[in-house]
Amino acid sequence: GPVILWLRQDLRLSDQAALVAAVKEGPVIPVYILDDAAPKQWTIGAAQRWWLHYSLKSLDEGLRQKSSRLILRRGDCAAELQRLAEETGSRRVHALSHYEPWWRNIERTVAQELDLQLHEGMLLLPPGCVRTSTGGLYQIYTPFARATMLHMPPPEPQPAPSRIDPPSEWPASDSLDDWDLRPTHPDWAAAFAKDWEPGEAGARRNVASFLDEVKDYDVARNLPSVEGTSRLSPYLHFGEVSPAYVWHRVSAAPGDATTFLKEVIWRDYAHTQIWALPAYGSQNARPDFNRIPWRDLREAKGDFVAWKKGRTGYPIVDAGMRQLWATGWMHNRVRMIAASFLIKHLLIDWRHGARWFWNTLVDANYANNSVNWQWVAGSGVDANLFSRIMAPLTQSPKFDAADYIRHWVPELAHLDDKVIHDPDSHDVRPPAYPSKLIGHREARERALAAYRQSRR
Ligand code: FAD
Repeated sequence: GPVILWLRQDLRLSDQAALVAAVKEGPVIPVYILDDAAPKQWTIGAAQRWWLHYSLKSLDEGLRQKSSRLILRRGDCAAELQRLAEETGSRRVHALSHYEPWWRNIERTVAQELDLQLHEGMLLLPPGCVRTSTGGLYQIYTPFARATMLHMPPPEPQPAPSRIDPPSEWPASDSLDDWDLRPTHPDWAAAFAKDWEPGEAGARRNVASFLDEVKDYDVARNLPSVEGTSRLSPYLHFGEVSPAYVWHRVSAAPGDATTFLKEVIWRDYAHTQIWALPAYGSQNARPDFNRIPWRDLREAKGDFVAWKKGRTGYPIVDAGMRQLWATGWMHNRVRMIAASFLIKHLLIDWRHGARWFWNTLVDANYANNSVNWQWVAGSGVDANLFSRIMAPLTQSPKFDAADYIRHWVPELAHLDDKVIHDPDSHDVRPPAYPSKLIGHREARERALAAYRQSRR
């Protein structure tokens, strides 16, 4: 009889261990189940729904080229898989392992009812593989990365099967368009398609076009004004490409790829942290941070809205927040600056910022988002010091962000490099652009006072 291939954040046909295993056993029923209840507050965010629509469409097309197709269901994953098993007479389910806490719960429930076969492939190495000499997990990224490197390269990626046998009869499927994953009125994602091509083919094109840039990555990755990074994050999140495939292609490119490969290891590191501490997205990893007197969001609402809209009066922050809104992505250096600004300059709890990112990023990922926000806040297991307050007005010229600001904050496009980073202080601020919500020195003192209070 047929076997079920349960697809989640692994929407690809190449280097897909669950698919490879399934085709060996007989006809395959590939299914994607949209479950908006189980992840609770971590249900797929708005920008990712746009992505998911096109990714599923592309996956279905890919499957059809191999005489298969994608079955769509909506509801509780375990209940839907059970129903599918009854309809098709197949109790055997192949899937890749996922480490978000809700996926782990669902996997446990499914395994109680059905013959669930889990395979690896979302990470370079499954969490818990890399351990310290005393058998513990690494808390700090650098030694984790060093230890991971010893196990690299990952296994050669496996090609997509040339044919995927269909069952004699297809079970019922929802229609993708009925899911309404794309925004309509207003269509705030209108510009996304200029930047992104969700799906496996788009992922591979992105990898291919990055190969020429690998040699410049060390320097270029820090400069928001140039396209110096791979922009693979949404593809990796949705599993449209495997990290093993990325590893092998990029290592073979001209230049030294070590810095880039270490960034890919950051993903593994972050997933290891949420595996060890599933509440990483909602709880401070360092409990002493529970005592920080964050501003009440009712009182700080105006500041929070200004941050979300890119109207803080700090051009580098505003450029980043507007890039995020327009494209569903933000440059890593600017994510750090914008997150730090919310947490320290505005003294707003990192969880509010993480939530906004969750809804607006096409690469929103429970592990990467939570671990990076807590890293910036200082509340993570591996974190910088809260008292090291990033200065956006220094960072902006240091990383040459003038062109980036010109692009995303057109009100300032006419200003020259010397003044564009801080138009307020140079008395050249056009009326259309807001003045600073708070001065750097004042913000810094307020943040440090709050931190001292939490330590008492
Ligand atoms: P590249 O520089 O080309 O890196 C290649 C890949 O390595 C990325 O695609 C990503 O998968 C991984 N990677 C790189 N940097 C990191 C990192 N710091 N942590 C974990 N993985 C990394 N990344 C997400 O994928 N999802 C998120 O929700 C997310 N939220 C973030 C929130 C904040 C506050 C910060 C500071 C960073 C966040 N990041 C997140 C990490 C990083 O900013 C993005 O992965 C990166 O900007 C994606 O662009 P790229 O693919 O061009 O990266």
